[in-house]
Amino acid sequence: MARTEFLAYGLPLIEADDIEGVVDSLKSNWITKGPKTAEFEQQFAAYVGAKYAVAVNSCTAALHLALVAAGIKAGDEVITTPMTFAASANVVIHTGATPVFVDIDPVTMNIDVKQIRAKLTPRTKAIIPVHIAGHPCELDELMALAREFNLFVLEDAAHAVYTQYKGRMIGSIGNATAFSFYATKNLATGEGGMVTTDDAELADKVRVMSSHGMSRNAWNRYTATGSWFYEVLYPGYKDNMTDIQAALGISQLAKLERMQGIRRDIAAMYQAAFKTMPELEIPVELDYARHAWHLYIIKLNLATLSIDRAQFIEELKAEQIGTSVHFIPVHFHPYYRDTYGYQPGDFPQAEAVYERIISLPLYPKMSEQDAQDVIEAVKRVIARSRR
Ligand SMILES: *Cc1c(COP(=O)(O)O)cnc(C)c1O
Repeated sequence: MARTEFLAYGLPLIEADDIEGVVDSLKSNWITKGPKTAEFEQQFAAYVGAKYAVAVNSCTAALHLALVAAGIKAGDEVITTPMTFAASANVVIHTGATPVFVDIDPVTMNIDVKQIRAKLTPRTKAIIPVHIAGHPCELDELMALAREFNLFVLEDAAHAVYTQYKGRMIGSIGNATAFSFYATKNLATGEGGMVTTDDAELADKVRVMSSHGMSRNAWNRYTATGSWFYEVLYPGYKDNMTDIQAALGISQLAKLERMQGIRRDIAAMYQAAFKTMPELEIPVELDYARHAWHLYIIKLNLATLSIDRAQFIEELKAEQIGTSVHFIPVHFHPYYRDTYGYQPGDFPQAEAVYERIISLPLYPKMSEQDAQDVIEAVKRVIARSRR
């Protein structure tokens, strides 16, 4: 039986404690960066096992500020993957540097570390690996390569709060890691992001750059012990988090394990239901990985079906199931195509996978029945369109 009510592709889980935290923040008069932001930073650093965490207003800002703090500038090249949200590459351009794409491993859809070496030049200064869907990249190999060539590793962990690589938390491995707390991410503050690092100087520079390049932030200035004096050390940005967001961050972090448990249960239901279907390739969780299950991405085996990915999505929509596609390869977007002259065929693995991928609903607000409905809808679409 098809659903009568549309199942949204993604929704945040906002409960009474989240609402109380935000109201508390509003009543405290600290509505921008203040004590709750500091508390969230401390808790988040402890959670991922990093020495420092700096809260900002998005993962895009986190990525950008980390690159700026690392000294990435015009003339430099930064390696990343085409299979990501455009922000991972846009921020490189914001610094004046050039993004250089390296094709993906078709199984995990993460950057193929073995192909990075061939793309290095004397101008290469950094690598931005992206842990797609919450599955970690092969970080030992990547970090070894980075050490050999003295490259700054900035992990895009927008999908990877909770992810582990060989038992180590993402956020404690690269030179810096950027997290997203956007509405649909595993930990949601509406908009928000975080930079984690063990490098005191880098953390300090990100903090200063996130607040106009000022030597003191408003919290220090306006409390009784603060002073009116500040100095602008750099022409900084306005990227700080607010206490209203941090209040949500604190309550969301407190329930992250529970939310992740629900994600894992739903992912396990999907895996069990789809693993014997020749029309689908299901996601993997390799031996070294603890998956955050931010996304559940199926790959259609198109040769077994009479419809393409776009039609499959339409069929699921008719079954009242919302879906998405992660991601349109960055080099396909007009800006990248026109500016850098990319052609179809430049990143064959990313392009081939792109034709086949659909992200199914997976979030803690879903019920077991919702997940069952997704499974049945997928099976009905396949039954109708089997070749
Ligand atoms: C969501 C996302 C971002 C950007 O996060 P914002 O917090 O919205 O700036 C960056 N990279 C990836 C891979 C993402 O999915």
